[in-house]
Amino acid sequence: TAKRAGGSTYALYETHMDEGAQEQLHLLNDLRLAIDQGQLQLHYQPKIDGQHGQIRGVEALLRWNHPERGLLNPGLFIPIAERFGLINSLGNWVIDEACRQMHAWAEIGLHMRVAINLSVHQLREEDLARRIEAALARNFVEPSQLLCEITESVAMEDIKSTQRAFEQLARIGVFLSIDDFGTGYSSLSYLRQLPARQLKIDRSFVCDVEGSADARAIVSAVIQLAHELGLRVVAEGVETQGQRDILLALHCDELQGYFLARPMAAATLEAWTEGRKPVGTADFSPSVLGG
Ligand code: C2E
Ligand code: MG
Ligand code: MG
Ligand code: MG
Repeated sequence: TAKRAGGSTYALYETHMDEGAQEQLHLLNDLRLAIDQGQLQLHYQPKIDGQHGQIRGVEALLRWNHPERGLLNPGLFIPIAERFGLINSLGNWVIDEACRQMHAWAEIGLHMRVAINLSVHQLREEDLARRIEAALARNFVEPSQLLCEITESVAMEDIKSTQRAFEQLARIGVFLSIDDFGTGYSSLSYLRQLPARQLKIDRSFVCDVEGSADARAIVSAVIQLAHELGLRVVAEGVETQGQRDILLALHCDELQGYFLARPMAAATLEAWTEGRKPVGTADFSPSVLGG
């Protein structure tokens, strides 16, 4: 490839790049256009109540409908966005789109709590809470209808930013969730300091609860501890009936995973929710919204 490149610096750089890096560079260029060209979309995966099986809310998961490659998962492009300074643009798009969707659903009588995932770069932005507050207000959405998920390891990576952002978000009334819990080595005393409402047990533990007594013991302890701290517990990545049964026996509050429902486009989710009225949404009924 060095042969066809004109500039020597560029040629050198390109020669030393492996195929993976080349692919990343292509994706990076495409990603710069993706937002403006409307190629991003959110899919929504239900969180199911352990007690009565009703829907408690959904998690918004970013998808990129690439013109040549089709629908791409975030694992392929979020790391690129984080590395090359595009994550805040993507994140802002997600905030606006989630709020727009909540408003559109409210208009058809579907009052759904939506969770979005935040990157550590977003937590470092001074105006994150103000931006979220504005997007909510623009769409007549109650702050408590939005949940922000932050991966535990990410939260631990920059404790100061996390603490500050959590406090600001809690102050405007947004709910907070610690994602992928169990992989980030949090100290329990630290967890106690964060104004979170929800804790999501990482899929790696859920995956092992059937086969491993150790995994069961860890999950059981985490659920008890979380409950004592006043947090609701969600198990992510539930793929089998056996896992579900064990998690329910351990008093896990909500379940999420392919066994219950896959992430779906908004229209598919609407059909899926027919006859399954969302629960726990009394606090953002239309009368409160004033819209
Ligand atoms: P996450 O927040 O922990 O989301 C759960 C991931 O597990 C999703 O992958 C979901 O599709 C997948 N999943 C759900 N149920 C099952 C199951 O039963 N089995 C298995 N094997 N997987 C299951 P996805 O959509 O590829 O997202 C991956 C990660 O990308 C997310 O992990 C989250 O950390 C990140 N992400 C997604 N959307 C956004 C976003 O809008 N912003 C940011 N910053 N990160 C995002
Ligand atoms: Mg998540
Ligand atoms: Mg997770
Ligand atoms: Mg995960």
